[in-house]
Amino acid sequence: MNRAYILKRLLLDLFYPNRCGMCGCEIPYDEYFCNTCVKLFSPAAKAVIPDVDHFTAFAVYDSFGKFFAGRFKNNSDGYAVSGAAYLIYKALVKDREIDLNGIEIITYVPMRKRDMYRRGYNQCRLIANEVAQLSDRPCVGLLKKIRDTKPQKVLKAAERPANVKGAFYCIKEKAVKGRHILIVDDISTTGSTLSEAARILKQAGAETVSAAVFAKTSFQREAEKRIQK
Ligand SMILES: [Zn+2]
Repeated sequence: MNRAYILKRLLLDLFYPNRCGMCGCEIPYDEYFCNTCVKLFSPAAKAVIPDVDHFTAFAVYDSFGKFFAGRFKNNSDGYAVSGAAYLIYKALVKDREIDLNGIEIITYVPMRKRDMYRRGYNQCRLIANEVAQLSDRPCVGLLKKIRDTKPQKVLKAAERPANVKGAFYCIKEKAVKGRHILIVDDISTTGSTLSEAARILKQAGAETVSAAVFAKTSFQREAEKRIQK
């Protein structure tokens, strides 16, 4: 973990004892939630996403995951952003299949400029930035969104890959060549967006593309929703 980050957290803890972001009980300086509250998240199952070499998700996007994600998606709750980044980082450390030391650049899924002005921030970029700080790696914007897409959540699973196809462009081909890149995202449902982002990075010469997200919709839940439609 990055030394400056540890120092910042230690100093903060000296003046304001660190408390759990859910229940408020006192917790160690480097945690965001107590052991009881962190268990409210259901661990995510493994998933395979085309063009993504290794995929890690911290939790299942169930009602609790959704409640927490709402905090960083709908209002710029800095604590929720840092908490999500910390949980993603911990999931990465725990995931033995991912070569965390081999990751050279951390990036994020971009938004169109107009959407970014409307919202005021790109929560994925904020989370990626903090995962990069924790992992002591640079966070670099490697992709640009070059056309509008419909929100993936309004589309059926089968329609999603076409919605994002060709939506991204790699703006830093030189930086990407031969590298192991980690894409950090907040929520993943079918994985179509991550798959397309990884495909573009590989087309630009990336050697390995991994992805880490805060929460992933379980396949079962997706299937249930499809049956209900
Ligand atoms: Zn708690």
